[in-house]
Amino acid sequence: MRKQNYPMLIGLLLTFFTVASAADKPSAFTRADLAAAATLRDRALADTTAYRLIESLTTEIGPRPAGSPGDKAAVAWAQREMKRLGFANVHTVEAIVPHWERGEAEFSVLAPYPQTMPTLALGGSVGTGNKGIEADAVMVKDLDALAALPAGAVKDKIVFFANRMERTRDGSGYGKAVAVRAAGPSAASAAGAVGVVIRSISTSDSRFPHTGATRYTTTAPRIPALAISNPDADALVRQFASGQPVRLSMRSSSRDLPQMRSANVVGDIPGTDLAHEIVILGAHLDSWDPGVGALDDGAGVAIMMGVARLIGELDVKPRRTIRVVLFANEEFGTSGSLAYVAANQANVSRHVLGFEADFGAGPVWRLSSRVNPAQLPAVDQIFRALAPLKLVRGDNEARGGADLEGLSKLGMPILEPGLDGTDYFDVHHTANDTLAQVDPKALHQSLAAFATTVWLGAQYSGTWERVAEPKPPRR
Ligand SMILES: [Zn+2]
Repeated sequence: MRKQNYPMLIGLLLTFFTVASAADKPSAFTRADLAAAATLRDRALADTTAYRLIESLTTEIGPRPAGSPGDKAAVAWAQREMKRLGFANVHTVEAIVPHWERGEAEFSVLAPYPQTMPTLALGGSVGTGNKGIEADAVMVKDLDALAALPAGAVKDKIVFFANRMERTRDGSGYGKAVAVRAAGPSAASAAGAVGVVIRSISTSDSRFPHTGATRYTTTAPRIPALAISNPDADALVRQFASGQPVRLSMRSSSRDLPQMRSANVVGDIPGTDLAHEIVILGAHLDSWDPGVGALDDGAGVAIMMGVARLIGELDVKPRRTIRVVLFANEEFGTSGSLAYVAANQANVSRHVLGFEADFGAGPVWRLSSRVNPAQLPAVDQIFRALAPLKLVRGDNEARGGADLEGLSKLGMPILEPGLDGTDYFDVHHTANDTLAQVDPKALHQSLAAFATTVWLGAQYSGTWERVAEPKPPRR
């Protein structure tokens, strides 16, 4: 009998010491906050608010490129929905945005084997005039290959950039491939080309071309630039492989119009004892025009609004203020983000923690951060609270998204529930970005991951210390 009691005694002692040492180490979160996090997580998994918001935004507003009537309507929509969901301090921050109109575009192979292919003008690109452009074409893989050509090789020609984007979960394939879209037209123009066509920065094998912003330099003439889908780019590669001269025709009526007024839409769930500290949740209200921006970034808008609403409906109020900012014109110059930072020069340090959702409708697969190393134990504890959602622990080099870049560069820490981007670039910036692409189950899981993380971020018992400027992106 006595012998059998020893293990029990040792067990009791172990329990005692474990409890004592846990009590000695200050927890980053109170027991009540952790309990509320679990409540939020479970409610989010069954909450339809986010899905309904995407449905409403895509049905009632639709495409909303900067400066368009849809952009204006989206600003009104967001204010109305924030008020309806019980947000406080709903207001707008004006942003002046470029206004580019797509018009119509046509792309054809004239020789060796004539074909017409669906195309989209790159955002911001100039038109061709009514007559269009006809020219012999040169195929290159990417910007490096263009730079390696002998002088005069693309003079008076159309340059076709053929590089294919790689599919990745974290979107790094996009980062590697997108330089051609941004810088290809001016690089080709500087070498004497008269037009550019790119293989879409896309992972899809559908025939939907992918648009997105191009950036002209001030030193080379602005030349028209179109994108064709992956299967059409493959077909064009085969035409080049025939060894015969390839002649192309392109036409686009894209044009720039005068700048317009747009606005960021802001709404708060007010904090309590730390109300002056802001946890900012960013997403963007604008979209490209071929689709209705369900994934980019209706989903981000809906996740952030859904998170704030869930937290607003808890019995216990957050310590820090939770602020949703739906940014204007992320897609074509981050005008809204720049305007927000300019309007908040005196309040930069009040933005103690940032979240951004601009990578589709989930699921969330990873928790990354960019916090002061002193706060990493708190991030670990948040990660443990997310355990039922089955995430992996990312590194401390999160970059946030484009809209929080300004605040992030000024030292704001970032927590990043990472949305799974494996299929995102099948749809992103195409006519196929519609509500049909949103999986409600993945969306609910994402809402749960964000809600848990945002709530604990707002309740953290320590101080979110400032962080050093992010490292340049890994290539
Ligand atoms: Zn986006």
